[in-house]
Amino acid sequence: MTERVDTLINNSLIVTMNKSRDVIPRGYVAIRDGKIVDVGSGDGTLKYLADEVVRVKRGVVVPGFICVHTHLYGILLTGSPWFSHIEPPSDFQQNLQRIWWALDENLTYEDIYISALLGTIMLARTGTTFFKDLLDAPNAIHKSLDFIEKAANEVGLKGFAGFSVTQRRSIQEGYDGLRENERFVKATWGNPHTKVKGIFTVHASFTVTDDILVKTKELADKYGTIYALHVEEGLIDVYHSIERYGKRPVERMESIGFLSPKLVAVHVVQAIDDELRLLKKHDVKVAHNPMSNMINGVGVPPVPKMLSMGLTVGLGNDGYIMDVFDNMRSAYLIHKVALKDPRVTDPVKIVEMATIDAAKVLGIDSRVGSIEIGKDADITVISPEFVHTPLDERTIYGHLVNTFTGSDVWGVLVDGDWIVKDRKLVKVDIEKVMDYAHKVVNKLWDRMISMEPKYKVEYLKP
Ligand SMILES: [Zn+2]
Repeated sequence: MTERVDTLINNSLIVTMNKSRDVIPRGYVAIRDGKIVDVGSGDGTLKYLADEVVRVKRGVVVPGFICVHTHLYGILLTGSPWFSHIEPPSDFQQNLQRIWWALDENLTYEDIYISALLGTIMLARTGTTFFKDLLDAPNAIHKSLDFIEKAANEVGLKGFAGFSVTQRRSIQEGYDGLRENERFVKATWGNPHTKVKGIFTVHASFTVTDDILVKTKELADKYGTIYALHVEEGLIDVYHSIERYGKRPVERMESIGFLSPKLVAVHVVQAIDDELRLLKKHDVKVAHNPMSNMINGVGVPPVPKMLSMGLTVGLGNDGYIMDVFDNMRSAYLIHKVALKDPRVTDPVKIVEMATIDAAKVLGIDSRVGSIEIGKDADITVISPEFVHTPLDERTIYGHLVNTFTGSDVWGVLVDGDWIVKDRKLVKVDIEKVMDYAHKVVNKLWDRMISMEPKYKVEYLKP
């Protein structure tokens, strides 16, 4: 007897990321109505009559990757002439002032839309099915998140989006950002027609007052969402907090009741052990962005220590390189260099940080992050054209971290729908997007170049 399903991915190596981390050497995944209805060993066609049977060469099936932290607008700077227009920044504060804030102050709604379209295309093509985005656009606050939502829905990706609340230019802009987050949360949760939902996000503790932090947590609690901010990416965060509040940033946050299991602390590069213990005490989640830490030269976060303390750490890209394989590879390598100890990271943990642990960081692990019956059919199918050593259940984690790249991704399903198939975007015309995007980006770069770079760092001094 055969049961009907919509899609059957057959004859593949399946990396389930379930509790026992089962890897099925030759098996199938059956999908119906957007959900995984079966995962098993052997030939799925003996059990299921499928509208579509997928079988690819050297097929490896993994849970759709989850990016716990990005800024989709960040990709607009790739190759920008702005870099030769300015004196190169020598530290993190200058990096924000000269590069990121020069960009975000110039962002229009059209730039936000096109960056989200490009960014979600880049994530989708390389196997990521869920993202968490923080948008900084101080001159386009109201309704800005609608443009992230529109773009991601067009590509077919799921995600969380929040406006990155800051008061670096005025106290009022913080409240405007908070209002945008609340508006977007109300508009999206409970709306079955959007794949993007609102969350509450803040730039960093050194650009907002306590009141913004307190209200952010109150609203996140009220609406039941996660909330996030950058924590101790650079030393400015630490020194600002010690100078103004007599406490380190994590201590300040604890003193006002800001820490909780629903907080995603991004980066946590400069934290000392006492602060890590506070994060652990409140079960705060951590977003690790190794390639961003490298390009910004801010240092290496103590991720192996966090893991040994039992903190949950997920992998993000911070708006830099969207390919999850590059980010996994970097997370795998950077701690070995920093600690001069090759034992401190292993491939299984790295893949966990991009799948099931990332889902835990975002509070969505009951729905996604592993291939298990009842979960959303968010699935990435990898079909490498060349593999130099055997590809099987013994070697798969090694290949995921050391061998594969985004171009090995053959297909991507979100809620059972193909958004990438046969290595091509399904829902958007990539040539049209590129033509349009390059024009928009050139205009943005022209606007930036017409400005005088600001060399004096400005941020909130409450
Ligand atoms: Zn960031």
